[in-house]
Amino acid sequence: MNQQTYESLLENHFGYSTFREGQKEIIVDVLNGKDVLGILPTGTGKSLCYQFPAVMMEGTVLIISPLISLMIDQVKQLKQQGFKKVTAINSFLNGEQKREIYKSLDSYKLIYCSPEMLQTEQFIRELSNRVNISLFVVDEAHCISQWGHEFRPDYLKLDDTLQQLGNPTLLALSATAPKNVQDDIIEQLGREKMNKHIYPMDRDNIAFSVEHVSHMNEKINRMKEILTSHPVPTMIYFSSRQWTEKVAYELSQSLQHLRIAFYHGGMEQVDRLLIQQQFMNDQLDVICCTSAFGMGVNKSNIRLVIHAHLPSQLESFIQEVGRAGRDGKQSVSLMFYSPGDSEIPKGFIEGELPGQETLQKTFTFLYKWGYLQGNHVKSNEEMESLLDIGEIQWRFLRYQFEKHDMIEQTYIKYDEKKWRRAFEQIQLFIQERTNIKHRKLEELINWIHQENCLRESLYKPFQHSLKSPQGYCCDRCDFLFSHWKVDDKKQTKQVLGWMEELKQICLQGETYEMDKSSRANQTTN
Ligand SMILES: [Zn+2]
Repeated sequence: MNQQTYESLLENHFGYSTFREGQKEIIVDVLNGKDVLGILPTGTGKSLCYQFPAVMMEGTVLIISPLISLMIDQVKQLKQQGFKKVTAINSFLNGEQKREIYKSLDSYKLIYCSPEMLQTEQFIRELSNRVNISLFVVDEAHCISQWGHEFRPDYLKLDDTLQQLGNPTLLALSATAPKNVQDDIIEQLGREKMNKHIYPMDRDNIAFSVEHVSHMNEKINRMKEILTSHPVPTMIYFSSRQWTEKVAYELSQSLQHLRIAFYHGGMEQVDRLLIQQQFMNDQLDVICCTSAFGMGVNKSNIRLVIHAHLPSQLESFIQEVGRAGRDGKQSVSLMFYSPGDSEIPKGFIEGELPGQETLQKTFTFLYKWGYLQGNHVKSNEEMESLLDIGEIQWRFLRYQFEKHDMIEQTYIKYDEKKWRRAFEQIQLFIQERTNIKHRKLEELINWIHQENCLRESLYKPFQHSLKSPQGYCCDRCDFLFSHWKVDDKKQTKQVLGWMEELKQICLQGETYEMDKSSRANQTTN
């Protein structure tokens, strides 16, 4: 295919006149049947790298996506662009809706699903029997490395799935993956010869600032000051659900000119989608959220990303900050740090994987209840309540037990020697993973205390050279909030007349209804 054809197809199907950095190289490789690992910075249109081939190729493109909200959003966007043959299969659908989709499964050009869904027998059977998968895409592929080893072990089974589906071409995409994560992705997917297309992830329009304060109250006061002088579209990250609610309430009490909401994983799915939608439509100015918010938030004019609590590692930080300024205009990342802040992520790290006691308890239980009394492994929910452990820990353990041949399907296979060895190995593995996480947290804390340029030290572990900043660099170099002039005040309610305001309020109601009904349409489509 010649140059002209690629560009004109891009124009006709997607409405863009040129490709962005990296897109075309990846697309050409994929269309030539080469496996590709693509690392493109956030906001550069990763999804085009498989949507374009979907138009060109025979067969179906299967996209593995980590979050339901992300899938729903992508399907919605594609439908708005005129793609009809696209669907998302997720746990949101009831049995009847799933059957409906399965009936016409081979008619879709793009199918989105989670890694967990690929482990359900019926779905994989339908896929392998009836669908010609021409391209297998792992979107947000760093999840393989970031989540696979702990609480989403189904991410580590994708290599088997690829074989079950007849070894289609593979495309793994991510926005943030340092060298060790890239290697892990390739190893876990079992395709050693993937072509790598790695593009630098530094964002030249984001300025970085770290403020050391004494406690949370001081952080909240600073937020009030900054949002008063800079009433811009803002995301504020917290490490707990309670804090998102508490601070959203406090801020909205004193910043009445701003529309402020909170978002976390404990909310109903419908409410989460609504908040996300309103934020994207500029009907909300400030979101107080946990890390559950973000992936799939396709909003171009976020100007300020504040971290009220520490993320767990630099990668997460870069991902979260990368949501700012996708339109290329000056945006700012602000991190607050107060003494003792690192205790929260340390606690998370320690509590994530089962400790020695839980491990011992689970082994004993499997031996007595499973082997001696002849019980079979039950559903995840039942096992969690029988063992009185959390979902993440049980998923992790189950995967480990399968790996060490202690469990096959639901059958518990006892062998004293093997079990002893497994116990030691699992214990060692937990220790290793925990150490890695502590090291990553340490890197982040070192960055916060950095005396030299924040931009340089942030991106240094990820790439060799940096673009020079478009505007401000960081607060170690040239940035001060008082220097930063924002011109998008008009986006906030402050300057609207009462007529517009009324219109906005009515529109919000309308969007809510539209949102609910369009969701209903999607799930039955
Ligand atoms: Zn700097």
